[in-house]
Amino acid sequence: MSTTITHWVDGAPFEGTSGQLADVTNPATGTVSGRVVLASERDAGHVISRAAAAAAGWATTSIARRTQVMFGFRELLNARKDELAAIITAEHGKVHSDAVGEISRGLEVVEFACGVGHLLKGSHSDNASTGVDVHSRREALGVVGIISPFNFPAMVPMWFFPVAIAAGNAVVLKPSEKDPSAALWLAALWSEAGLPDGVFNVLQGDKVAVDALLDSPEVASISFVGSTPIAQYVYERASRSGKRVQALGGAKNHMVVLGDADLDLAADAAVNAGFGSAGERCMAISVLVAIDHVADDLVDRIAQRARTLVIGDGAPGEDAGQKEADMGPLVTRAHRDRVAGLIASGEEAGAKVVLDGREVRARGEADGFWLGPTIFDHVSTEMEIYTEEIFGPVLSVIRVASYDEAVALVNANPYGNGTAVFTNDGGAAKRFENDVQVGMIGVNVPVPVPVAYYSFGGWKRSLFGDTHAHGVEGVHFFTRGKVVTSRWIDPARRPAGGLELGFPRND
Ligand code: NAD
Repeated sequence: MSTTITHWVDGAPFEGTSGQLADVTNPATGTVSGRVVLASERDAGHVISRAAAAAAGWATTSIARRTQVMFGFRELLNARKDELAAIITAEHGKVHSDAVGEISRGLEVVEFACGVGHLLKGSHSDNASTGVDVHSRREALGVVGIISPFNFPAMVPMWFFPVAIAAGNAVVLKPSEKDPSAALWLAALWSEAGLPDGVFNVLQGDKVAVDALLDSPEVASISFVGSTPIAQYVYERASRSGKRVQALGGAKNHMVVLGDADLDLAADAAVNAGFGSAGERCMAISVLVAIDHVADDLVDRIAQRARTLVIGDGAPGEDAGQKEADMGPLVTRAHRDRVAGLIASGEEAGAKVVLDGREVRARGEADGFWLGPTIFDHVSTEMEIYTEEIFGPVLSVIRVASYDEAVALVNANPYGNGTAVFTNDGGAAKRFENDVQVGMIGVNVPVPVPVAYYSFGGWKRSLFGDTHAHGVEGVHFFTRGKVVTSRWIDPARRPAGGLELGFPRND
């Protein structure tokens, strides 16, 4: 029997009134495991208005109390992350240890937000003009909307909501309808941690729910993560209704391997970053750019490693002695079929198939959405496997003659999310850091996701808006500044006063 996955509002589940539901599947078995409610405009309006009702009270709750709630949430989540990881694996398909990893990265943002007292400190200037003091303060926005993709059902929302809540906002989270249960579980955990009802809400649904958030005058800001066309749509529509927007989009991340790199390190990195989470990561490496004279050797080493990967159900096995699978299934049948179609297009376009994931033998049920690691060599930039964001376990190798050609390739790509260089030459790495037009760069690190106290975000068509997630930029995004100029008269030394219609001349 499948369960109904509801909204969450006022600290409790809410079924809504739309009567619309969508199937949620377990990608490892292909069976429907639940049905998620899809909000109508009316449902969305109800959830947003309850968040608005809670926002003012939370914004004026002391920093000390807000900090206690943040710490409470951190402790509960840390203690129970295996429970959440199991929910993620069952709906997304990523293997259990990887699901724990995503929660751990999210926890880092919660830990960052526990320092909210420090993060919200304003500045003060005494006697800025004679007898006049100036101080700055940062205030919560009110209701903030977060719209997240399927690939990180816990971590991506946690890039935003810990900072938003710590700063005194009320949140409406619209998770992906493909794996909606993690958000609901997190909502219940907030209640347990003592967050007042209405401060953290979940609105389930599709475009109807998203559009309601984008258009509502009660929603002050939108933080979106998803594919580039939707990110651009969200940015434009929400900006038109006067909101602050950060919309993170798709990616095509290049890993450049220079001639002096440690090829074993580079091969391990390419396999981990290309096939981890079945390539369904916005920071996955999908293009390996190899300097010609190391390319044959490097491709051999990558293929040898990729052939050893175990593809299977990511849930912890019944058999205690069994090694966890390295890679789970893709999220839906439609997505698996799309990626398989792109593999066929690469073959037809003349790229050399080094390893074909369509021939996968998975350790799992026959109806799971399986696809094995795929490696293409001799890929060129007009092929669809290069121009499309595949978002699956497909690694394309492009051979170049020089460093300059490698950098030109990275910079000509319309996306600018992440990139990495593998080299033992510090000078070359520094030059790469200067030359590439990409937001997040790894030096011998293939997936350079910044730690929580830095900010996450790409360039070009990987980000619409200009504020990245978490870190100081996140604090700024979820707060508004005020500057107060004040003069208090010392009763013992009353100034003469008088009329003066000009600006102060500071003389
Ligand atoms: P998606 O764009 O299909 O969906 C993202 C969200 O938008 C979901 O909540 C979905 O319900 C909603 N949505 C989908 N279609 C919509 C429409 N027509 N109108 C309004 N809302 C709509 O993305 P996805 O498939 O869930 O996630 C994968 C994508 O996300 C990839 O492109 C990946 O690169 C990107 N991503 C980017 C980052 C980043 O940091 N830049 C991080 C993770 C994922």
